[in-house]
Amino acid sequence: MKFKPLIIGNWKLNLFREEAFNLIEFIVKNTPASFKGDIAVAPVMVLLQSIAEKVHGSRIQVSAQNIFHMQNGAYTGESSVRHIKELGVSMAIVGHSERKQYFGETLKHVCLKIKACLLEQVVPVVCIGEKKIESAEIVLNKQLDYILTTISDAQFHNIIIAYEPIWAIGKKVKIDISRTEKIFKLLRKKIGNNTRLLYGGSVTPKNAKDLAQILNINGFLVGSASLSPSMFIEIIKAYL
Ligand code: PEP
Repeated sequence: MKFKPLIIGNWKLNLFREEAFNLIEFIVKNTPASFKGDIAVAPVMVLLQSIAEKVHGSRIQVSAQNIFHMQNGAYTGESSVRHIKELGVSMAIVGHSERKQYFGETLKHVCLKIKACLLEQVVPVVCIGEKKIESAEIVLNKQLDYILTTISDAQFHNIIIAYEPIWAIGKKVKIDISRTEKIFKLLRKKIGNNTRLLYGGSVTPKNAKDLAQILNINGFLVGSASLSPSMFIEIIKAYL
């Protein structure tokens, strides 16, 4: 594989301070030395700095779950890429389906956020995916066509695409491995060989091994299972 695997734990609006500290300490201590990939966790915004301090000197990176595209100004309640970068954050999840569902984010916002991340050399982890009733091929093509217009050829290796079928997020569904493999083949064809592709949606220690075998999947974006210390480590071990 051209890319090292990357496993990101998206903690969403979970884990209060002490719980988050306990989890990150467990991950730092228990990540097997034989895992040669990258790991990141995405805590709530207000814990970014303390989690970044906790992982300092380790191989674990910190990601924001969201950012605002403007650097500063009259935008009450928002945090810019520069703000999170100052805290030691190296990645930001952009366009998660929950942002689209609950906060009205559109592809236009997603593109502005990608651009803002690239300007500050923070890696955007750009989420794409279809609803149950939609055709994956049509929706992914449309989303990528729109997103890719904002990225120059030279920037393709600075972004990460996370394919997250919306119907699989937080639902603990059974994943069809051969269908997933087909979709990643299409995604790879469309995006080329310079961009890491992650899978997200109902990843567990049980299915992680099979998913890790798929050539075009370069790691996972993990929601629920990333809140369990042992499950998250087991998922990392799928790449041993
Ligand atoms: C997610 O929210 O990005 C996600 C993949 O969630 P889960 O792993 O719980 O399906």
